[in-house]
Amino acid sequence: MGSSGTGTGDAVELLRGQGMRMTPQRLAIVDEIMSTAGYIIPTTVIERVQAKVPGVSPSTVYRTLERLEQVGVLTHVHLEQGTGYHRLEEVQHAHLTCSRCGTDLELPRSSLRSLERRIERDHGFRPDFTHHAIAGVCAACLERAQQ
Ligand SMILES: [Zn+2]
Ligand SMILES: [Zn+2]
Ligand SMILES: [Zn+2]
Repeated sequence: MGSSGTGTGDAVELLRGQGMRMTPQRLAIVDEIMSTAGYIIPTTVIERVQAKVPGVSPSTVYRTLERLEQVGVLTHVHLEQGTGYHRLEEVQHAHLTCSRCGTDLELPRSSLRSLERRIERDHGFRPDFTHHAIAGVCAACLERAQQ
C-alpha cells in the first residue's frame, strides 16, 4: 500500500494473464526477483531459490525471467559477467565496468543525455547506453597505473 512500482503480486498477475501456471517454485522465483534491488544475475536467482525451494530447475528460472521481460516487468542488460535483469522502473542508468578489476559503477541516464542528443542530431541515431555495460578503467586502477 502506498509504495509505487511493480511488486510480486502485480508480476504474478501479469504472468497468470499470460496463461502461466503459478507453481510454488515459480512463486518463489518471482518473489526472489521482485525483492532484489539493483540488477539480478540468473545464476544468483537459481542459487537463492534452490536454497528455499528444493527442486527448482535452472530452466524454470530462465523461462520465468524471459516471461517477466515479455510482460514488461524486467529488462535485460549485457554486463561483463553475462546477462543481468533490472526491473523496468530501475533502468535509467548505464553500467560502467572496469576492465581491470571488474568494479561496476552506475551512471545516471541524465549524465548521458547531452551525448545522446548530440549523436542523434549529428547522425540521426538514438543511442541506448543503458543496454550494454560501458567498458573502461576505474579511478582506483587509473591511479595505480600512474604510480
Ligand atoms: Zn544496474
Ligand atoms: Zn540485449
Ligand atoms: Zn578498476
